[in-house]
Amino acid sequence: MSISTFDMFKIGIGPSSSHTVGPMRAAGLFAREVLADPELGPRVADVAVHLYGSLAATAVGHGTLDAVVMGLEGADPETVDPVAGRERVAAIEAEGGLLLGGRVPVSLRPSTIVTHPLTFLPQHSNGMTFIALDAQGEELQRRPMFSVGGGFVVDEADMDRSIAEVAAEDEGRTIFTTGDELLRVCEDRGISISEAMLMRERQWRSDEEIRSGLLTIWRAMHECIERGTRTGGTLPGGLEVKRRAASWYDSLSAEDPVRLPMNAFEWVSLAALAVNEENAAGGRVVTAPTNGAAGIVPAVLYFATTYIEGVDPDEIAVRFLLTAGAIGSLYKEHASISGAEVGCQGEVGSACSMAAAALCETMGGKPAQVENAAEIAMEHNLGLTCDPIGGLVQIPCIERNAMAAVKAITAARFALRGTGEHFVSLDTVIETMRQTGKDMHERYKETAMGGLAVTAVPVSLPDC
Ligand code: SF4
Repeated sequence: MSISTFDMFKIGIGPSSSHTVGPMRAAGLFAREVLADPELGPRVADVAVHLYGSLAATAVGHGTLDAVVMGLEGADPETVDPVAGRERVAAIEAEGGLLLGGRVPVSLRPSTIVTHPLTFLPQHSNGMTFIALDAQGEELQRRPMFSVGGGFVVDEADMDRSIAEVAAEDEGRTIFTTGDELLRVCEDRGISISEAMLMRERQWRSDEEIRSGLLTIWRAMHECIERGTRTGGTLPGGLEVKRRAASWYDSLSAEDPVRLPMNAFEWVSLAALAVNEENAAGGRVVTAPTNGAAGIVPAVLYFATTYIEGVDPDEIAVRFLLTAGAIGSLYKEHASISGAEVGCQGEVGSACSMAAAALCETMGGKPAQVENAAEIAMEHNLGLTCDPIGGLVQIPCIERNAMAAVKAITAARFALRGTGEHFVSLDTVIETMRQTGKDMHERYKETAMGGLAVTAVPVSLPDC
């Protein structure tokens, strides 16, 4: 599987890439395909949707029900207006149905989506099935799909293909498939990790498109930080969590109007808080690589563009995102970036690792040091569980991003002090993360049935 930087960083809406962005894309795909089919399209009179496992367990808190109905109407995560979208969902519920593909009236609304929180489909914990029905209620088509993290959507046929089959299609285009290969490519050609990733990107886009696309992503991240630092109030969902970034911004700006290096960690933490509060409010964010972990890469990139002197900030942003994309692709290919699959180590841990590597490269690190930074950052996130209180991407997620952003900077600095030689390779730590995630109890994989989600808000545990 050849993964692009633009797969890792996608502009969308909060609060979750796997539970909001992915289901919206899947619903949109289903609606387009059914309506475009000359046999099925004219006969479709209604639609049913079933959600399984983690998608069902946190469907309300993660906005999955709303995302599905918006997607079925034709909304796209990259362009949908979050406020207008929420208003439209309320109208759909009140009026008793939606317009499939924006034109065919069907009776589906958020409250009629069927959730199966204790049923985990064998292929993946984020399963969903879309069913098209005719006027008599007879099934016309059934489409199982899976939201596998970071907004990626895979249908049943692709879930059943082996990694070897998928990899064979990409032979020659991937440039590297493991951390060791990435280092070998860099050494053989005398290039950096960002340049190796640029070689991969050239199979899809021109150099100009890559550069302008990456700068668009950085602008979207930066705008998200700015919006977060301007918006106060309370986050939705019922926990009454107060937004802190705006008041923090005011007090820190008064203390330090010029952003002194000695206050860098405070500014970085603030940037992460701002992004994750925007995400929790359902605002526009960039998956990095997921929504739950969306604050870490922007916050560390903010650090790089603010505190690295003598380099054009746009150059920093392009190299930073390419390096982060290269490391993120290794996690996606060999482990997972989905909290529902491997716990929070796959989301916040992967983001921390990507940001550490990217900062290391933009601060002048050699490829071996960059790989070392990525490894250090993940090594100290291993075992991190996913336990969002109330199924909302708020506690512990928001603060966790700020802590991970600071950890990423520390990891980059550790690596820059060394030679790049180290005991545990990045490939080994990625495999360790995968195995740890496999061994982790389902309660700690985005179900809101374990950890803080239970101890801080007692609920009765089902037998699972
Ligand atoms: S705990 Fe981590 S993986 Fe779980 S929802 Fe929060 S950020 Fe995502």
